[in-house]
Amino acid sequence: MEKGMGTDTIVSTAAREADGLNAQCAITEPLAPCTIVIFGATGDLTARKLIPALFNLYHQHGLPERFVIVGCGRTRLTDREFRSKLETALPASDSSGPDGWQNFAKRLFYQTIDYDDRLSYVQLADTLKSLDKKNHSGENLIFYLALPPSLYQPVTRRIGQAGLSEENSDGHGWVRLVVEKPFGRDLETAIELDRAIHAYFKEHQIFRIDHYLAKETVQNMLMFRFANSIFEPVWNRRYIEYVSINALETLGVEHRAGYYEQAGVLRDMFQNHMMQLLALIAMEPPARFKAEQVRDERIKIFRSLRPFSTENMADHLVLGQYGSGRIDGKNIQAYREETGVDPGSLTPTFARMKVFLDNWRWQGVPFYLTSGKRLAKKITEISIQFKDVPHSMFRKILGETISANRITLGIYPDEKITLTFQTKQPGARVCLRPVTMNFDYHRNESGPVLEAYEKVLLDCILGDHMLFWRQDGVERCWWFLTPILAACENCEDRGRKLHFYQSGSWGPEEAADIGPGGL
Ligand code: NDP
Repeated sequence: MEKGMGTDTIVSTAAREADGLNAQCAITEPLAPCTIVIFGATGDLTARKLIPALFNLYHQHGLPERFVIVGCGRTRLTDREFRSKLETALPASDSSGPDGWQNFAKRLFYQTIDYDDRLSYVQLADTLKSLDKKNHSGENLIFYLALPPSLYQPVTRRIGQAGLSEENSDGHGWVRLVVEKPFGRDLETAIELDRAIHAYFKEHQIFRIDHYLAKETVQNMLMFRFANSIFEPVWNRRYIEYVSINALETLGVEHRAGYYEQAGVLRDMFQNHMMQLLALIAMEPPARFKAEQVRDERIKIFRSLRPFSTENMADHLVLGQYGSGRIDGKNIQAYREETGVDPGSLTPTFARMKVFLDNWRWQGVPFYLTSGKRLAKKITEISIQFKDVPHSMFRKILGETISANRITLGIYPDEKITLTFQTKQPGARVCLRPVTMNFDYHRNESGPVLEAYEKVLLDCILGDHMLFWRQDGVERCWWFLTPILAACENCEDRGRKLHFYQSGSWGPEEAADIGPGGL
């Protein structure tokens, strides 16, 4: 069903159930009134992701009855200007009607702020009080840091010093802080950032976003693995040859060169999204489907990551950078020619990494993690390649090669699960043919589909940490990646280790040297 259309509902209410609307998978707990304060509200993330997500939630009855959104930024804007700027950035929407933009926009306010100025936060506190008085949006607060990471520390400090991070002891008046990646740029800075945040916020108040985790099909991995009995017995080193995790993009660095030049693909994709996909595909089943237990199991995977030594780096990691080329019939310029990129930049835009997990289930099974920009197709998927049959009685008749089974979990563009296996080709001769069973995630499905940012915002309102990073996980991933980054960035032959690839290709040819990757 098209998003936002029809009668689907996110939050179940007695009235909607009585109406016979599809409430089976809806949330049953009431959503507490709240005020969402967005720092960096004039920026790209707010316009492209946060406001469309909040509006869609509103449109589908997925926000509390009473809520307001306060955007903050240095830019001088009136409430009216702020609303109209956001409306312009919104994909075409139904503007009238009780669930339309006009009504939603009445809940949007703007406050000009100097991020590191004490007085700005005193004024913000006053604004929040008066909005609460008028709108009864409650004392519950969400602070969303949609800001360049260099501002995370001053802003959380100023929120804390203004007394805005304190929660009332009676359970009402919760305060939550949403932090966007990157959580530091190495282990040391991640610890430093966490210390600064914890000076004013407790761990239960902190929501570190990884929007990949909130994608429907990513969450579905746990259902697929742990709500079926046929997959788990073969989900281990005895039956699996390798696992490949691919997150490929056709887009380049776009307007984020300043950030990307400092980050590169390892910080941008591997420290967070790739690690979370790895954890979901490899983790043990938790005893209960509870946030902390699921997060514990994910973190055990990070603890099992086998570090690789700098001497044999080339066996485990291939880095690349896109050159010029063509994608979808359009000429594409090289990374080094992009606005804001150093013409001699050595920042990698592609990486394939072979990792091993030192635990009983996965000993010896390689996991190939591949991500890059300006590749031939935008694809996010995980493939589980099973081993060849131990003995083939067909060898003499059919030759040596009988391709092994494969399960593919498609996240983008096709949200699907496929299983490839061998059958007999119809006909008089004995011939095999590989066939694929295909489950399309959305076929015969009429429930409301939550986009990743809708899901994370809703979970934050509900206080559910399941899909968010915990600091020990962040640190463990940095513990694994920091020596790799240091070895890549500080070595004398950094330039020689960077392999250039044509835009619109599948990455540098050298990537095939460390493993199949499943492309
Ligand atoms: P922007 O670069 O658009 O910055 C957001 C706002 O912050 C700006 O509108 C500006 O508002 C203020 N700002 C920017 N630079 C400075 C500066 N040097 N000093 C003070 N204020 C500044 O960021 P995004 O919206 O793209 O991203 C926000 C956060 O979300 C970042 O941490 C990013 O890594 C993360 N993120 C972004 C994604 C995206 O798709 N954009 C995706 C995933 C994560 P004003 O001048 O009005 O104060």
